[in-house]
Amino acid sequence: MIEKRINELIDILNEASRNYYELDNPTITDQEYDDFYRELEELEKEHPEYIKDNSPTKRVGGKVIDEFKKVTHEVPMMSLGDIFNEEEVRQFDERIKKTIPNPSYVCELKIDGLSVSLLYQNGKLVRGATRGNGVVGEDITHNVETIKNVPLNIDYKGEIEVRGEIYMPKKSFIKLNQEREKKGLNLFANPRNAAAGSVRQLDSSIAAKRNLSTFIYHLPKVDDFDIKKHSEALDYMKKLGFTINPNIKIAKNIDEVIDYINEGNKLRESLPYEIDGIVIKVDNLDDQRKLGYTARTPKWAIAYKFPAEEVLTKLTNIEFCVGRTGKITPRADLNPVHVAGSVVRSVTLHNQDYINEKDIMINDIVSIHKAGDVIPEVVRVIKERRDGTQIPFKMIDTCPICGTKLVKKDEEVAYYCPNINCDARNIEGLIHYASRHTMNIEGFGDEIVEDFYNMGYLKSIPDFYNLYKKKKELMELEGFGEKSINNLLDSIENSKNNSLEQLLFALGIKHVGKKVAKIIASHYKNIDNIINASLEEMTNIDDIGEIIALSVKEYFENESNLKVINSLKELGMNMTYLGSEISEDERFNGKTFVLTGTLSKMTRDEASFEIEKRGGKTTSSVTKKTDVVIVGENPGSKYDKAKELGITIWNEEMLSENFSK
Ligand code: NAD
Repeated sequence: MIEKRINELIDILNEASRNYYELDNPTITDQEYDDFYRELEELEKEHPEYIKDNSPTKRVGGKVIDEFKKVTHEVPMMSLGDIFNEEEVRQFDERIKKTIPNPSYVCELKIDGLSVSLLYQNGKLVRGATRGNGVVGEDITHNVETIKNVPLNIDYKGEIEVRGEIYMPKKSFIKLNQEREKKGLNLFANPRNAAAGSVRQLDSSIAAKRNLSTFIYHLPKVDDFDIKKHSEALDYMKKLGFTINPNIKIAKNIDEVIDYINEGNKLRESLPYEIDGIVIKVDNLDDQRKLGYTARTPKWAIAYKFPAEEVLTKLTNIEFCVGRTGKITPRADLNPVHVAGSVVRSVTLHNQDYINEKDIMINDIVSIHKAGDVIPEVVRVIKERRDGTQIPFKMIDTCPICGTKLVKKDEEVAYYCPNINCDARNIEGLIHYASRHTMNIEGFGDEIVEDFYNMGYLKSIPDFYNLYKKKKELMELEGFGEKSINNLLDSIENSKNNSLEQLLFALGIKHVGKKVAKIIASHYKNIDNIINASLEEMTNIDDIGEIIALSVKEYFENESNLKVINSLKELGMNMTYLGSEISEDERFNGKTFVLTGTLSKMTRDEASFEIEKRGGKTTSSVTKKTDVVIVGENPGSKYDKAKELGITIWNEEMLSENFSK
């Protein structure tokens, strides 16, 4: 069983390596590769008796293609061990400290390209070579000579070899793929493969056109020079005219390394080239010698890899959700995967057109990423991985909850359940009413609303305000006690004091979102004015078009909706706009906010809602006009921009304090 899995993993990894290194055309993602690799490493550690000669854990890189002249590396070109989280970074430090009690580290960006060796004799570039299998590489001198920042002559007359990374800048990669698309050629999966594909060409005019560049980071035969530290070697190579990446830091301890990793992660987006992690190297060369090497990696260095932003997983089923307006939305179930820090189990597929456009089938392998780092979405289907078990998507024609025949409105792509008494629609409507974005009735999560609906306590909006009559019964329910029911009833009572725009949004009128509700409420001041407004008058308001106005009119002309409004009035609900009073808060009123990073106590949407409630505005990009940037965990480049422009920065704690004061 175990031996079989080991063999299977070796086959998968070797096949992937062939596509990656030799054909520059990966068929699985780096994350999948790394996961399989780790699994193999662990199995081999537990069962050394099954280790095979062709295991990828025993060698570096790929095969050397015969078309190129072969080059034997005097000092082998090794790979790096990799680690994926802070705990492993600290374990690396612990391991080093067993040999070197007080290590100092050099931290560098891990450039996502391919490694290159450059050999100089008598001050002239005589050879450029790929890593190949680490011992034998390919001679790519003719292509290396076309790279602008590779010096053809240097001011050192002895023999010297330097090593570094050839990469393709992000912009050049996009341009190259656009051109290839126009010509109907296969696209490169990423800048790394594009760079590798460019230097492994027999015709050097191709590489010359590809705008490749290099960063140099290693002096293999450092003993030939009077150099004691890796950082000194970098300085020396810089003096000789090589391009050294400027983002280098000497860290005195592992905490400083971790700070650098976090900074690198933030910097990543704004760099003009791809990086896939951070390389940590022991600085002192004597220390490096003491630590030595494994078969394929130095023990004195390690690569920390950034979490994947795009991962592959299997789409196992497509289900249908019924929204509060009756809209039917297909939703995909996924084999759970970690994407940018959280587990994703399902993803919306929006509508039939979206599914057709992306050609999504059940049992497809799909790539998932988080749009704006928050909402997971399907980027594409990996069609090469279809295995015959795929089932084409079929739209349903009746409501999955009440069985009513679905309708399609001419101008829309979505299908709707037209039954206004459909349980799914009603439950979603009630969930929407109680949610934080609308009436903010604390304690009413989706499941409680659904349970109360199914138990008959909550069938329509006014029922929220009659729940107090059932207090005793509710307290008996499993999972509830006097305290939680009291809290629930209190927050229901409090919601009666909300401003009109909250109620307007909460009613679930089609096309009336948060912003539109605010415009209408602030214009009409109370609900009766809205009910009595003419269509023409409403369309005269800035930002209110005919579709919205019609929808509002239609809603308030409907008898059963008016009945709901009247019941709410009788129950003591505020029906006037309190906006001006709320927005007098000068910390927010009239100011522009930008949110970046993950907040721990609220979502970005909730924070925006609270800001807007106080008269502030949220936008998505940082400019000179931004007043405050709110920074959560792992903020993006917006944070750097804010610092650069000297804009006020609040962390989450400061935001919460300002909300509560
Ligand atoms: P690696 O890319 O994980 O790390 C080592 C390499 O990092 C070095 O060889 C060097 O080229 C590079 N590097 C960049 N900046 C550096 C710096 N500042 N200092 C030192 N080195 C630096 O290792 P690898 O052996 O080149 O490749 C293995 C990785 O390639 C796997 O972990 C996987 O992610 C990927 N891979 C993917 C597939 C696939 O099918 N998707 C197949 C094979 C390998």
